[in-house]
Amino acid sequence: MSNVSRRNFFKALTSGVLGISLAKNLQPSLKDTGAAQSGSSPIKIQKYNALGKTGIKVPDVSCGAISFFEPNVLRYAYELGVTYFDTAEGYMRTKSETFIGQALKDVRDKITIATKHPYSPRMKITKENIIKRMDASLKRMQTDYVDIAMIHQANDLAILENEEIQAAYSQMKKEGKIRFTGFSTHDPTLTMKQALENDFAQVILFIYNHMEGKEIEPLIEKVRQKGIGTVVMKVFAGGKQGNLKSLISQEVSYPQAAIRWVMSNPNIDCCIPTMSSYSHVEEYVAASGKPLSRADLKMIAAYQCQANNQYCRVSCQDCLSSCPDSVAVNDVLRYKMYYEDYKMEREAMRYYAELEESTKPLNCSNCSGYCEKVCPFGLKVKSKLVHAHEILSG
Ligand code: SF4
Ligand code: SF4
Repeated sequence: MSNVSRRNFFKALTSGVLGISLAKNLQPSLKDTGAAQSGSSPIKIQKYNALGKTGIKVPDVSCGAISFFEPNVLRYAYELGVTYFDTAEGYMRTKSETFIGQALKDVRDKITIATKHPYSPRMKITKENIIKRMDASLKRMQTDYVDIAMIHQANDLAILENEEIQAAYSQMKKEGKIRFTGFSTHDPTLTMKQALENDFAQVILFIYNHMEGKEIEPLIEKVRQKGIGTVVMKVFAGGKQGNLKSLISQEVSYPQAAIRWVMSNPNIDCCIPTMSSYSHVEEYVAASGKPLSRADLKMIAAYQCQANNQYCRVSCQDCLSSCPDSVAVNDVLRYKMYYEDYKMEREAMRYYAELEESTKPLNCSNCSGYCEKVCPFGLKVKSKLVHAHEILSG
């Protein structure tokens, strides 16, 4: 479709022009039709970058499919030029993969899909089981192959070097089920160094934003020089929906400024903000291809001022060793962020329920708050954890 607006998109959808099924769950919702229903000007991806040396071109602003309310949001992103979709077996209890299949099956050869599977030292990892899980993902996505298969949250070397995982991915590559391999990580310092030493990672998904990741910039440059594709998550540094009310500006939105800040690093191939709604798609795609401006920097400075002692840096672990109870502080506060800022209440509660009981903040109220004393950013960690437990445990 040329000249895409949300109104045109809905028209095309209901008339069948897009060639996708109008099954009940693909009907456009009227809930989220806002400004563009009245016919806003078309928005399109303006810039595509090489994804490392994979030969794939990806839009600078790509789609994180961690949480969304209807599959047509993904289709709308595609119609605006988004061709890279990041999903995972665990997103929305496998529904994210299912929705990708439903919304994008007929344009499979025009898009790039990255999906992820987690492995932990606590599970029994076998080659057969890994292949079975990938087959199930392919079935859900209604495709014979995935472009990028990632180990989800590879934060320790034992997983990255696990022989069963290596053998399974290597076999699936030979069979044509996966094109490229890689991992997502919350510990980029450790894992990027490892990626430089072996050839498993062809694409890496990691945390980088204007509030965290400065120290890994030399590593990002090295992995990019090696030809590894660089994809960035957590672009908004915790600022999604819940805490931006005081940052309204006529000139620029905070998410757009944060996207442009990330993409101003020439070693980043694309970023994957979560596109949960039609409004998100339009707002984020509108940031494509534009250089970081003075107004963006002003907006970012205002956000930093507000969030500096509020945002628990996802890749930070500075307070973990100070806790006598081994509380998984950064994980718990990340789930709190999903709950409050991303408005992913159910997903956040599910992640929290899956956390090992011994690492939950059950005794924080009676503790003198050792974690708080060492947090370099001055977060009121103890009260945040107590509150996190309250909301996440339901
Ligand atoms: S308040 Fe105490 S128990 Fe809770 S995370 Fe901090 S150090 Fe650990
Ligand atoms: S609470 Fe502070 S020290 Fe602990 S992980 Fe978060 S940012 Fe790092």
